Amino acid sequence: MTRTVYLDWNATAPVSAEVAAAVSDAMTAAMMESGTGGNPSSIHGPGRKVRAAVEDAREAVASLAGAKPREVIFTSGATEANNMVLVGSGRETIIVSGIEHPSVLLVRDDVVRVPATLDGIVDLDRLAAALEGTDGDALVAVMLANNETGVIQPIEEVVRLAREAGALIHCDAVQAAGRIEIDIDALGVDTLSLSAHKIGGPTGVGALIVREGTPPIEPILKGGGQERSRRAGTENVPGIIGFGVAAARAADWRDEMAAIGALRDDMETRITAAAPEAVIYGAGARRLANTSSIGLPSVDCALQVMTLDLAGIAVSAGAACSSGKVAPSHVLMAMGIDRWTADTAIRVSLGRTTDAADIDAFVEAWTGMRNDAIARANAPLAGAA
Ligand code: PMP
Repeated sequence: MTRTVYLDWNATAPVSAEVAAAVSDAMTAAMMESGTGGNPSSIHGPGRKVRAAVEDAREAVASLAGAKPREVIFTSGATEANNMVLVGSGRETIIVSGIEHPSVLLVRDDVVRVPATLDGIVDLDRLAAALEGTDGDALVAVMLANNETGVIQPIEEVVRLAREAGALIHCDAVQAAGRIEIDIDALGVDTLSLSAHKIGGPTGVGALIVREGTPPIEPILKGGGQERSRRAGTENVPGIIGFGVAAARAADWRDEMAAIGALRDDMETRITAAAPEAVIYGAGARRLANTSSIGLPSVDCALQVMTLDLAGIAVSAGAACSSGKVAPSHVLMAMGIDRWTADTAIRVSLGRTTDAADIDAFVEAWTGMRNDAIARANAPLAGAA
């Protein structure tokens, strides 16, 4: 059986053996045979043991972002964390960059979308204009790094503009985690979201970090005092433990990014040499080292993903689409790219186990796909004289 070349780490990163073992150990400890359950809210011994494991994970997740453990609220993922802020901030005006994840863009009908430049960076002049007249009653949400292009956003400048207008600032740092350093103090944001499965933790668990002193975020989930009454519901203990292990290892990932970046750059150089018409979106900006958004003019992205899949290569059409359908990338459209062109881009995202052989396989399959597309386009029409 041929090995799948997995180049979709921004959709979900594979879990390490260590994370898998930690999650499995947490489940085994809760098995009937062990004789004890473990609800972290129970005050008996088994409950306290589980509580201690959750608090260890909280420390690891806090330190991933340079935050305090008490600022971390565990959630079911970053979608929930983003929703919590946008729904619960109580702010009248919500201003977001147009390149945000749908869990930011689509939470409220009345969000004000600020476009990005052609390089994939939120347009700061348009942000300043959107903030005018908001009278200290706005929330601004701009992500730290984009999931499709990898472009790193100028959060410090966003914060400066937002603070002048008395706005709260939320930052989706999901794709930055494990790829670049996150220092919430230096960023200066009020809230920040994280997701375990982008850094090799389990799916279905994430966190919202709320800085001390931030006005309370009204919970979405009510009916329990968990997470210091900020998010009701018994905690996903195995998931949180796995998240903690992944967070503790995120620095090792960051150390490997230079080598991953060299592979990515080599891939882009070979692609653009073989196909001068290929476009690398965001290439002019500071980007995550593992991410590449590659446009192949005139070839539909769904067809590209399927063709590469048949060659054993897993990539995404833009962002991994949650509905399983492929739509033109809203990120590229927010950068001013027309929808037909946006529909020809795929996202290739590398990770810790990506090696030169993976890149060779990708370049070969991609180039073959591109040459076939050209041959098809130039084939004489059936029946033509
Ligand atoms: N924000 C960004 C930037 C993402 O890439 C994702 C995952 N695609 C999310 C939020 C949502 O995270 P989760 O899957 O944990 O809900």
